Amino acid sequence: MSLDCLFCKIAAKQIPAKIVYEDADVFAFADINPQAPTHILICPKRHFASLHEAEAGDQAVLGKIALIAAQLARERNLQNGYRTVMNTGAGAGQTVFHLHMHLLGGREFAWPPG
Ligand code: AMP
Ligand code: ZN
Repeated sequence: MSLDCLFCKIAAKQIPAKIVYEDADVFAFADINPQAPTHILICPKRHFASLHEAEAGDQAVLGKIALIAAQLARERNLQNGYRTVMNTGAGAGQTVFHLHMHLLGGREFAWPPG
């Protein structure tokens, strides 16, 4: 755990969040500023800042995050399509430096993204 990390504090239940999934490796919660009817953030419990800092030992948890995104999408009947996003670095819009996958669904999405 990184003591000054917002998402580590959410994982430790020191800051409230609407947790929608949790296991030994991963936690997922509703985004506080949703950009779509479904907007969930899926995180590893191990603190690392972004995909750029991921290590070989993170291979399993990164795959698990993707599969949990699909599971959460199925549970919410997002069969029309959904968007999974990892912003990596400030230049790509990352604002919280604990890796997370956004799961966005329930509306149409444009391509290319902004
Ligand atoms: P990113 O810009 O990719 O780093 O995404 C960070 C996300 O965290 C944004 O969508 C924020 O709305 C969200 N966020 C920030 N603070 C909280 C919080 N306390 N609880 C839930 N989501 C948060
Ligand atoms: Zn963290």
